[in-house]
Amino acid sequence: MRCTVIGAGVCGLSCAVRLLEAGWAVEVIAEKFSPETVSDRAAAVWYPFLVAPVDRAEVWGMASYSVFSELSASEPEAGVIMRTGREYLREPVESPGWHSAITHFRLLEPSELPDEYVHGWEFEVPVIEMPRYMAWLQLRCESLGGTLTQRRINSLDDAGGDARINCSGLGAQELADDDDLHPVRGQVLYLDQTPEVGHFDQQPETLAHVIPRSDCTVLGGTVQANDANESPSEDDTELILAKCTAMWPGLDITRITGVAVGLRPARSTVRLELEPGEQPLIHNYGHGGGGVTLSWGCADEVVALLSAAT
Ligand SMILES: Cc1cc2nc3c(=O)[nH]c(=O)nc-3n(C[C@H](O)[C@H](O)[C@H](O)COP(=O)(O)OP(=O)(O)OC[C@H]3O[C@@H](n4cnc5c(N)ncnc54)[C@H](O)[C@@H]3O)c2cc1C
Repeated sequence: MRCTVIGAGVCGLSCAVRLLEAGWAVEVIAEKFSPETVSDRAAAVWYPFLVAPVDRAEVWGMASYSVFSELSASEPEAGVIMRTGREYLREPVESPGWHSAITHFRLLEPSELPDEYVHGWEFEVPVIEMPRYMAWLQLRCESLGGTLTQRRINSLDDAGGDARINCSGLGAQELADDDDLHPVRGQVLYLDQTPEVGHFDQQPETLAHVIPRSDCTVLGGTVQANDANESPSEDDTELILAKCTAMWPGLDITRITGVAVGLRPARSTVRLELEPGEQPLIHNYGHGGGGVTLSWGCADEVVALLSAAT
């Protein structure tokens, strides 16, 4: 049986890998491949953020957590590394639902909080180094026999095969005629300096992160709904530096090496559902700020839906 996956971001490639493992012949069709996708811009830390519905996102997220932590131990070339991070909050809130399911989680002492923060926790989660990870994922897909075709399609009917998986990210605005889907702009900076641990303020209004990678540290961010401007902004750069310095006073702003912008494909809820028919179609898009975090869990559900439908 042949399946066409539309989209070569993290969601499309993860689905392609799981479908190939399940015995499907898979062609991935995409207008853009790595390093040109939104997925390549992701910071990327495992952390369910700006994504709904929360209950399904936690299930998809935990499935992905297991895969990423396994990859960190078994496949160094995948670029997944378990890191310690600290989340800071301006008001006390309950610990996230997934706190007891990850390898390390503890509440921070007041002495460990930066000024202006009153609560927080330390956790160990996968950091997915996207430039390396996307290259690895693409190679994994090809080594399992998947084919990659660079082509823009104007309609989902243009995709052949016995089944189709729509992982077109923001492209689904047009392809699925989806008014709920919209861009949420994010800007990040790259820094040639390493913090001891990652630092996070993951509230959408104040979003800030300092994420150590093996080749740089990624500083962020911005959460600008319905802003599709892909050019970096000086104002945003200053804002990001101010927010990150507040969490990490040792940050040396003279060591910034680059800047990038990506448009998160956001939606009121992730759309993961089957449109039955002679050529079944499964939509898997709208992952907002958590597409990497949810990628493997969603891919597993896509394969389960497709198996049940064929
Ligand atoms: C600055 C920033 C930081 C982020 N940090 C994190 C993080 O730390 N953790 C996390 O989990 N997530 C993070 N995200 C979110 C994450 O990047 C997205 O949720 C994820 O990349 C979405 O993946 P996708 O595969 O759905 O879409 P994309 O990566 O956008 O891929 C879409 C694919 O569809 C193709 N396509 C679209 N339209 C067509 C068409 N008409 N014809 C053919 N092909 C088409 C595109 O060419 C592309 O290949 C971040 C995002 C940004 C911008």
